[in-house]
Amino acid sequence: MSKLKMPNSLPEPNINENAKIVLQRRYQRKDTTGVVYETPKELFWRVASSIAEEERKYGESVYTPSKLAREFYDLMTSYRFLPNSPTLMNAGTGLGQLAACFVLPVEDSIEGIFDAVKHAAMIHKSGGGTGFSFSRLRAKESVVGSTGGVASGPLSFLKIFNCATEQIKQGGTRRGANMGILRVDHPDIMDFIKAKERDGELNNFNLSIGLTEQFMQAVEKKEDYDLIAPNTHEVVGQLNAREVFNILVNKAWESGDPGIVFLDRINRDNPTPAQGEIESTNPCGEQPLLPYEACNLGSINLGACFAKGKNGHDSEIDWEELRRIIHLSVRFLDNVIDASIYPLDKITETVERNRKIGLGVMGWADLLFQLNIPYNSQTAIDLGERVMKFMRDEARAASKQLAAERGPFPAYAESIFGETNLGPYRNATTTTIAPTGTLSIIAGCSSGVEPLFALSFVRNVMDDDKLLESNPFFEKALREADAYSTKLMEEIAKVGTIRKMDHLPESLRSVFVTAMDIQPIWHLKMQAAFQKYTDNAVSKTVNLPNEATREEIWDIYWKAYEYGCKGVTVYRDGSKMSQVLCTGDDK
Ligand code: ADP
Repeated sequence: MSKLKMPNSLPEPNINENAKIVLQRRYQRKDTTGVVYETPKELFWRVASSIAEEERKYGESVYTPSKLAREFYDLMTSYRFLPNSPTLMNAGTGLGQLAACFVLPVEDSIEGIFDAVKHAAMIHKSGGGTGFSFSRLRAKESVVGSTGGVASGPLSFLKIFNCATEQIKQGGTRRGANMGILRVDHPDIMDFIKAKERDGELNNFNLSIGLTEQFMQAVEKKEDYDLIAPNTHEVVGQLNAREVFNILVNKAWESGDPGIVFLDRINRDNPTPAQGEIESTNPCGEQPLLPYEACNLGSINLGACFAKGKNGHDSEIDWEELRRIIHLSVRFLDNVIDASIYPLDKITETVERNRKIGLGVMGWADLLFQLNIPYNSQTAIDLGERVMKFMRDEARAASKQLAAERGPFPAYAESIFGETNLGPYRNATTTTIAPTGTLSIIAGCSSGVEPLFALSFVRNVMDDDKLLESNPFFEKALREADAYSTKLMEEIAKVGTIRKMDHLPESLRSVFVTAMDIQPIWHLKMQAAFQKYTDNAVSKTVNLPNEATREEIWDIYWKAYEYGCKGVTVYRDGSKMSQVLCTGDDK
């Protein structure tokens, strides 16, 4: 518990209706009988004060802990910035597991595999998500030296990880999430590509195929490529790259799985190659990490950085305010590292060596609404690049300032920055764009850099709760255009979009677009625009209508490669039995 007393003058936070439910169910502290004993105000103060306390360690700080605690409290309760869920849940409670993202190695031995299962269980229990590469496991039917038997292969073990995850509920509320990656040159790759073809199979995993530069070139040239046994490093077969790519695309068309990640590209941006290769990301793909590395994330609500134009000037982004928020948020996330207690010593060592943080954004679609810029326009893409460049430059400047106060991250000298004149930085990475699935509900904003799923919709959260929502900026614009009526809102809730509502002004219909109104290429362009200035990766789903073709998905996967993305996930409407978000008609 923090020693900082809650000031009497601390204002009550404003909590939206959806956030009330989410906070109560998952974030506010409960006693052993499940009764909530913490108010939202106490929750935010618990987080703000315990993270600010870390400042005491550093004599050089420009802040006193009590001043900083108040700044953090105001930052969170104005919903300008929120740290990832585990920080909100656990900070200042003595649990100390504050990071959302972990990657664990899976060694090619029974001990190694079951160590990973155990460690994943410990991480899930504490609210984190885990990513694994299964590429080091020998292929099915390879010989097991110690017994003379045959190995069962990565896929059979993947099922064990999935099953273990199923049984562990985080804080009694949600199940863990996993990423499973297999390199495209693993001999079992075809089984892995088809692993989720039946609905509900491996439901606690996102799967991605680890593609290499060599493979992508073979696809282009329609050549065969080698399959390599991970245990002997021998070439054990060949496949035609284009055929594999086609099957991959087919499966993604059918169910959205598997996604793809570009491993060489991820490693090209690995800031600490001396510590080994990056072989996996966290569950939603936005955070590549070394084995035994964790990262805490936080997101700035861009929708709250809108400045109304004065004296006839155009409305625009409040850059000064954004700068202030970025600097405070980086300090917050760096302090989170010090406040963390990780489930394994090895994780603590790796995290403390590199001190990665992942500051990102949410509320991007809300900002575009306020600026009257259609998401599917070059203006939006250019602004996305500009905003993210600003984010990265300022986040790095803040990390530099922290390095001056506290010293650079311990592996700085051996990192890629050690050889340049960019650093020294306090953090090996500073930027990541997370999905902000729950954070965006708490902040009442659009999630990550995604367009709105629907202007008005029913949200399924946490098993069976259904929340009805419509976008506040859309509502406001309707009222200003004198077009608002309850009947209209009900109509919109049925379909989510106003694209076909000819009776509404074109100015509204072009700006208030939803994920399904937008051509897939704009989704991808936006992902690439943000990726350009993001140290880690961007969580983004390229949404497609139900009638989208396999060729379109082929094109998206290929363009993701050409545009410099680190991976891509597609989702064709209706291709999975249960969707997290649905418009009224889908119920
Ligand atoms: P939040 O909004 O709750 O902070 P995000 O939706 O931004 O979380 O997800 C960020 C990361 O948090 C994911 O990539 C994953 O690593 C982790 N995560 C998300 N959901 C879960 C879950 N159910 N179990 C475990 N980890 C999760």
